[in-house]
Amino acid sequence: MAETIFSKIIRGEIHCHRVYEDAHVLAFLDIGPLSAGHTLVIPKEPAATLDALSDDSAAALGRALPRLCRAVMKATGATAYNVLQNNGADAHQAVFHVHFHIIPKFPSRPSGSSGLGITWNPGKLDAETAKSLTSAISQSMT
Ligand code: 5GP
Repeated sequence: MAETIFSKIIRGEIHCHRVYEDAHVLAFLDIGPLSAGHTLVIPKEPAATLDALSDDSAAALGRALPRLCRAVMKATGATAYNVLQNNGADAHQAVFHVHFHIIPKFPSRPSGSSGLGITWNPGKLDAETAKSLTSAISQSMT
């Protein structure tokens, strides 16, 4: 994996506002927050996208994430939040080191500080497509 700004943050070469750290996970405030308390949660393992992450790192992230969500909610007073995780440039990933965004939602605040805005355009799942996708995905599981 190519070196990223997050590798430097993990090594302590670049400052971050660290809110949590353990052997496998680091969490710090996003430098460009969508709302107050916007936090990034990253594995220390270098992996560009979630599918490249080891089971051990994934398990450590899974343990830390809900605890960090609770801490961000408690600290900010938010009653809603989004967890966002982008993989690949086409999916809006800008830093190619796995990271989860915890983004508190404050609907009454002006846009720019209210949290994540989402445009969601759902399609329809037809039976044939569902059957073939279910089969393809389940057979691809390793
Ligand atoms: P992505 O679009 O890759 O999911 O989001 C990358 C995030 O990393 C952005 O929200 C951006 O503000 C944040 N970010 C980029 N560089 C830095 C940095 O040097 N320090 C911190 N704390 N956050 C960063």
